[in-house]
Amino acid sequence: MEGDLERNNHILGDRWESMMSGHMTRIANEKGLDAQNFRCADCTSPIGIFYGAPRLCWYTGEYYCQNCHLMEENMIPARIIHNWDFRKHKVSKRTMVYLTQQWRDPCIQMDEVNPSGYRYIDELKKLLPLRLQLATLEPYLQTCRMLTPELLSTRLKGLHHMLGNPHIYSPHDLCLVRDGLLYNAINKLVQFGTKHVRQCALCTAKGFVCEICGKDEIIFAFDDMTSQCQQCKGVFHKRCFADRCPRCERRHNRNTPL
Ligand SMILES: [Zn+2]
Ligand SMILES: [Zn+2]
Ligand SMILES: [Zn+2]
Ligand SMILES: [Zn+2]
Repeated sequence: MEGDLERNNHILGDRWESMMSGHMTRIANEKGLDAQNFRCADCTSPIGIFYGAPRLCWYTGEYYCQNCHLMEENMIPARIIHNWDFRKHKVSKRTMVYLTQQWRDPCIQMDEVNPSGYRYIDELKKLLPLRLQLATLEPYLQTCRMLTPELLSTRLKGLHHMLGNPHIYSPHDLCLVRDGLLYNAINKLVQFGTKHVRQCALCTAKGFVCEICGKDEIIFAFDDMTSQCQQCKGVFHKRCFADRCPRCERRHNRNTPL
């Protein structure tokens, strides 16, 4: 019996977790008191006119009793993601704890949850090229033996998760995007990174020479004047690179029997 109860609690806990993480990126619809049988969504005690006004949590879209909802306010990440709306709204006690814990968790993949945000949210649109640039710098910064982990850490200052996938954000990051602070921080990081790579013997050894014009010059994917082949990752001058990549074409010809 006890085992069953524990298992049930476990299942309920998992369901709660997945409901909460789903609402991180999806705005909850308010379903109405009758949908929850006039009971608090948390402790299940009766709520309604006779028991004091039920309190709505804007994060879950559900109603709570006065013990489970203290009229605390927080920003709602899904409203930031979809409406660029940073206003604070009333949330339940448990939601407040959850949001506080998750606030710096890079759990938002913008190109999946709101790809069109890159078109209508100016701050995100402006930041994207910088983040793409940082993503092409990342393999150099992560592997260069000249950059000690300590040096890199002081440069990154809490921005480690900005290095990989250029579409990942935490709710906290989105606030920094709104304030322009993330743009400034990443801009600094990109400047530091590009300067390092160009001056570093180990990193320049991993640069490219444009195979199309053969000019004696080391170029990188993060340079403004270069294009990178998405297939073979080869790097060429933008002015030299048409729509066909000579490296891929060569390989293709080799593999095609005459
Ligand atoms: Zn309650
Ligand atoms: Zn280096
Ligand atoms: Zn070239
Ligand atoms: Zn290619």
